[in-house]
Amino acid sequence: MEPLFGREQVKRSVAAVLEALREPGAADPPPFETLVQAVCGRLHVAKMNTLLPVVNATGVLLHTNLGRAPLAVDALNAMAAIGRSYSNLEYDLTAGGRGSRYARTTDLLCTLTGAQDALVVNNCAAAVLLMIDTFAKGREVVVARSQLVEIGGGFRLPDVLRRGGAHLVEVGATNKTYLDDFERALSPQSSLLMRSHASNFRIAGFTRDVAPRELVELGRRVGLPVVEDLGSGALVDLAVYGLPRERLVQEAIAEGIDLVAFSGDKVLGGPQAGIIVGSRTLVARMRNNPLIRALRVDKFTIAALAETLRLYATQRHEEIPFFAMLAAGEPALRERARRYCSAIPGSSMVETIAYAGGGTLPEQGLPSIGVALDFVSPGALLERLRTNTPRIIARVHEGRVLLDLRTIAPWEDDFVLAAFASA
Ligand SMILES: *Cc1c(COP(=O)(O)O)cnc(C)c1O
Repeated sequence: MEPLFGREQVKRSVAAVLEALREPGAADPPPFETLVQAVCGRLHVAKMNTLLPVVNATGVLLHTNLGRAPLAVDALNAMAAIGRSYSNLEYDLTAGGRGSRYARTTDLLCTLTGAQDALVVNNCAAAVLLMIDTFAKGREVVVARSQLVEIGGGFRLPDVLRRGGAHLVEVGATNKTYLDDFERALSPQSSLLMRSHASNFRIAGFTRDVAPRELVELGRRVGLPVVEDLGSGALVDLAVYGLPRERLVQEAIAEGIDLVAFSGDKVLGGPQAGIIVGSRTLVARMRNNPLIRALRVDKFTIAALAETLRLYATQRHEEIPFFAMLAAGEPALRERARRYCSAIPGSSMVETIAYAGGGTLPEQGLPSIGVALDFVSPGALLERLRTNTPRIIARVHEGRVLLDLRTIAPWEDDFVLAAFASA
């Protein structure tokens, strides 16, 4: 077996354990075995703090803490192939000279969304920052008050605008915004009209929003670009899978939005990336912004994103794990649950609710099937599951530990069941 730790790592752990013993007021030295256990414990914790694969049994499909979207096999193979050898990352194979990394996914993105041009950066937050920095520095951005969202993980639209050097002009009331509100807020300092996806909240009751087409019409009339932070960025209708209908990226483009930004690793099901699609002249200006050098994506992201997009372009998007999980039928989930129940003593099949997650569609549940485990202390079982191999992240529901089968990939079943067999 390959060693897990180098000599120096072990030495540091031993030193740290001995150090604690030398502290003034420390008790008498414990037996040697106890010291060895303490050193092993430290090394175990060190290993747990490295990046490791886990089994997601939470039922939250796009779990931000668990790395959001798992990738399709084609995307993973492309990353391995591109990593193993040299690539045409910045080399033009037809012209035989220097090429642009930014061109590698443009055709696919334009074909799928109907946009004239596209640009990929590190994540959606970077995409929004680049938009603001390019078009709104020192000028005003007009946004409806009802769309000033904080996503979590430090992305808060008003703060991003401020960091980008733009002045936020909030219009409308919390629940109602009219086109007139936008119109009256315009000044010679206005640079962009902006829309943002509410992502993780809903305003219910008496509400009124400005339709994208109305805003586009105003933008055209006064000569200002209309940009939209779509957040999740769906390319196919999620209602087919029992989720609420999300406005598609291609719809935003068809409605005339000049620039649309969205994430690569939310409902798209690809690698972490921020994708901007829209008008040729505006994308060109963003491409020429020196900031792009700091926000650019690496070859692995480009490889994985291109293959993920190709799956959409060839009607194979159900090979993307996010869609495979959505599409899993109840009979198949029940079948797998029966296997779990016969392998794990004291477990039973339960109907449960899974969630899309990923900072979008927060409330909408998907019917799912879980396996509930009877254990005296659910907290202790949760801990054992997440620190053993494979590391399983589960949740407690009604006093019992629950494994939701919708987010456990069928190919993981053998590992999970083997772990229970050995425990
Ligand atoms: C998730 C989200 C973001 C941030 O996307 P990242 O790719 O995580 O940077 C920005 N805006 C909206 C509306 C979002 O939903």
